[in-house]
Amino acid sequence: MARFTNSSLDKLRDAIDIVDLINGYSDLRRAGSQYTGLCPFHEERTPSFSVNPTEKVYYCFGCQEGGDAISFVQKVESLDFAGSVEWLADRYGVELEYEELDPREAERQKQRDRLYELLERAAKFYERTLEESDEAADAREYLAARGFSAEVLKKFRVGFSPKAWDKLLVPALRQGFTEQELQAAGLAQRNDRGQFYDRFRGRVMFPLADTRGRVRGFGARAMRDGDKPKYLNSADGPVYQKGRQLFGADRARSAAAKRGRVIAVEGYADVLALHDAGVEESVAVMGTAMTDDQVVELSRLASRVYLALDADRAGRQAMIRAARVAEGRDVELLVVDLPAGKDPADLIAEGGAEAFEVRVKHALTVVEFEIQQAFAGAALETARERDALISELAPIFELIPAGALKDEQLRLVADRLSVSESALTSLMRERPKSAVRGDEPFAADAARRQAQSGMSAGTEKSERLFMASCLSAGTVGREHLGLLTDELLSTPLMRELRDHLRENFEKPAAGVAALKPQLRDAVTEVAMLSERENASDKAIRLGFLQLEKAGLDRALTGSPAGEKAKIELKRQDVIRRLGELSAEFA
Ligand SMILES: [Zn+2]
Repeated sequence: MARFTNSSLDKLRDAIDIVDLINGYSDLRRAGSQYTGLCPFHEERTPSFSVNPTEKVYYCFGCQEGGDAISFVQKVESLDFAGSVEWLADRYGVELEYEELDPREAERQKQRDRLYELLERAAKFYERTLEESDEAADAREYLAARGFSAEVLKKFRVGFSPKAWDKLLVPALRQGFTEQELQAAGLAQRNDRGQFYDRFRGRVMFPLADTRGRVRGFGARAMRDGDKPKYLNSADGPVYQKGRQLFGADRARSAAAKRGRVIAVEGYADVLALHDAGVEESVAVMGTAMTDDQVVELSRLASRVYLALDADRAGRQAMIRAARVAEGRDVELLVVDLPAGKDPADLIAEGGAEAFEVRVKHALTVVEFEIQQAFAGAALETARERDALISELAPIFELIPAGALKDEQLRLVADRLSVSESALTSLMRERPKSAVRGDEPFAADAARRQAQSGMSAGTEKSERLFMASCLSAGTVGREHLGLLTDELLSTPLMRELRDHLRENFEKPAAGVAALKPQLRDAVTEVAMLSERENASDKAIRLGFLQLEKAGLDRALTGSPAGEKAKIELKRQDVIRRLGELSAEFA
């Protein structure tokens, strides 16, 4: 990845007007030294989103999302770090400089750039062939018959590969590319005699671009019935990896960010049809076996993901897996129930975008959908059949964390099967563990995490507040940050936060976009809070003692009986000092 020089990143940060930037996404109002508005990342009626124009950071006290201009653009425009830096540089007219890479990395980068160049030329060549060549007449007819507009074909750079063995190969070699490069780009392959030939011949070509619009590979559909396979993708190589790509991600990016949702469909035709119908936040997973990587990519495009996929067995397995991946990522996954044998392109051909939107409106959670599907396909006459259904439902229920929702679903299922809830629960427990991947039963995992976060939420909050007051208090604050040992902080995140603040005491929020999201949110929150504070030395000392006491409380529960007395002694001392200090305040 291209790395920017620190000086050019600094120049960019200076040039950015964060209030002007964020104003395009939320109406900001001045409130003292800060600006507030409705949070662009979560639904709210009263503003809990603040922007600090001097530190150039934002933080939402509702959803705890925070960061700087770079991370803001990453989020709202669904770009990666480099893409977001380039986007901002463009907008604020800053020229970026790139870091000198070490020679080996620079060489690899150069090789990859050549492959991108080759793929870009191939895309242009296929586009031109579809437009102009006689042998593409059938393909043009086929695409027109499917009802795709010329605009949408152009937008997605749909093309055609000639039937001959070397129509791409020969000109590319003449332009100075090697056979090995053509192979690495997934465009050529070798026969038994070691000769290279074009991988794609006589096919409709769909370029697979990344979110920045760079072509990384192709998906290709056969034109003749005899040609196998019907769909052929680029071979894996340095720039293309199967299962990473979403078709149309670059074209859906900004619509998805704007509407807060992305629609995942099965194939190229569905994406084209949806875009033609104005549903531009649509991408294809290219096959029912949606991968974990693709779920992650989808969650980057928007916080609500609609799966409008084939619900055959493989498809349903993929959805359950996707639900597991999504759970840890703060993304809502919904399933669009499609009529049997119909895909989104069919729905749109019959009833336009409205017909599709009605389905989207009635989308179900993965759990609801799976339960519905399990019942739809099941015979329930005999006890054996009912047992089979319970086996099928068990892994689905593992997806639901314990709580009211789970109880409700259990009640509904028990009713339909005419068994008691407790019988149903114990029957499910007897089933062998689900075949779906995952080391730990999902619900147990989620429940454990919830318990942990519930336990530490209050403690963490006071640790964050303390660090914020340290930031606001100059020398005394800096000293006390230095005194904060690991034992005084309750979570690894808080220790990382302390380390970051020690190293960046003067400008804690500069460059936060490069931090991992959790730390970035925490740093911006603390930087934001510190602005409002003006902690006295005494307040700092008091806060520190409180953390000491909390740390000793934790140590007391976790230590062997022999050490408890010693800890208790220390604890009493801290309590005494706390009392004295508080008395000074009174
Ligand atoms: Zn928010």
